[in-house]
Amino acid sequence: MNNSIHEIRAKIQKGESSCIELTKSYLQKIEENKHLNTFLEVFSEEALENAARIDKKIIGGNAGKLAGLILGLKDNICYKGHKISASSKILEGFESLYSATVVERLIAEDTIIIGRLNCDEFAMGSSNENSAYGEVLNPVDNSKVPGGSSGGAAAAVKAGLCHAALGTDTGGSVRQPASHCGVVGLKPTYGRVSRYGAIAYASSFDQIGPITNNIEDMALIMEVIAGSDEYDSTCSSQDVPNYRKELQLTGVKKIGYIKDCLENPGLDAEIKSRLEVIIKELRLQGHEVVPVDFPYTDFLVPAYYVLTTAEASSNLARYDGIHYGYRSDQTDSWESVYFKSRSEGFGKEVKRRIMLGTYVLSAGYFDAYYAKAQKVRRIFRDKTNEILNTHDFILLPTTPNTAPELGENTKDPIAMYLEDIFTVQAPLTGLPAISLPIGEHTNGMPFGIQLMGRRFSETALFAFSNEMMQNFGDN
Ligand code: GLN
Repeated sequence: MNNSIHEIRAKIQKGESSCIELTKSYLQKIEENKHLNTFLEVFSEEALENAARIDKKIIGGNAGKLAGLILGLKDNICYKGHKISASSKILEGFESLYSATVVERLIAEDTIIIGRLNCDEFAMGSSNENSAYGEVLNPVDNSKVPGGSSGGAAAAVKAGLCHAALGTDTGGSVRQPASHCGVVGLKPTYGRVSRYGAIAYASSFDQIGPITNNIEDMALIMEVIAGSDEYDSTCSSQDVPNYRKELQLTGVKKIGYIKDCLENPGLDAEIKSRLEVIIKELRLQGHEVVPVDFPYTDFLVPAYYVLTTAEASSNLARYDGIHYGYRSDQTDSWESVYFKSRSEGFGKEVKRRIMLGTYVLSAGYFDAYYAKAQKVRRIFRDKTNEILNTHDFILLPTTPNTAPELGENTKDPIAMYLEDIFTVQAPLTGLPAISLPIGEHTNGMPFGIQLMGRRFSETALFAFSNEMMQNFGDN
């Protein structure tokens, strides 16, 4: 099942496989792996109907670019006529009235959408333990978390329950679970992929990103979902390159690694030594790999949590018990509809963030927190771009540790927030970053190595990632 979409398509064309057969086998695997709690809902009948339809198109020679792809959607990406909950009780019973642009584009190219995937509530979390529908287990070791917030998505791809998945990444939610589960995860450049139809968490950070087993599939899916969209004004009109055709070797690169990240006392010793080995090998292959200064690592997580909670408190104001989903029945006045519906509908972490965000935006504190964090964000961006002006990529760990035990961090939100130390720089600066599954710990868990690139440099990022996967991956 780890073939590329391209290889699967070729097999179907030769009559060696079919969308129906593939869909049935995924449905069976989903059934066998229910204990992982990855899917909140499986669209079995519909997926089989679409599979039959797409098989005919393949035989007829008029199938779309992604025919043969069976994909899961994180439960915060809208699919018309289907339930969506962002793993929150507050959206109980709500159905999407329209599809996200990415979903429209995937379907137009004959992707089969097999179901919606568990995640942290409103994408807030790093372990998938904040879901109103229960935790997801890491398929590599069921006593561990899969990471978050797109934990269901990464776990489902790793366990072979779908071929690929779409997640969202605000501070690491695609890359971090990809690292913990041993798959590839991308946060595209801000504005590369339309956010229309993705439930907003922190709008100036959010990006939809794929989770795949290999770079070729990543490139192909990005070719389909990226590009301008009249429904998202922050989406760039820059042309979308033919990513998959441009995966060949790209010559000698100059790569910077941030000294403070490598020397960070929270970084696991084996992850550190893996990075050191990779740096050495890359040098032997002729690349220039040099230490770079980015003296702000300790300020990344605090700035991220000021800005994202501020945006979240505003974005989540719309869930009022009236417009969407859940409404408390314990109400005796219009005011108590809001109060009780929100109190009962939101989980603990979401409430914590709404309160934090409201606080940093409130009169008297706005300048001290929100405005200051915006200025700091600009400094991060300028400094990171300065590095990337003279380096092709920045190499860094994805996560400080391998996947924690279930429950290990749930009592300590700060420990949970610090899990994001290496992933928040990319969304704070709007840059693309990818996590590659090229680490294996002696504790048996996989871990990712991250590459961050220049704005809209996905072509170069994919080509170099492909080279890294070939040199340092296990295939
Ligand atoms: N763990 C981070 C947070 O909780 C990232 C979440 C995300 O990227 N959606 O905010």
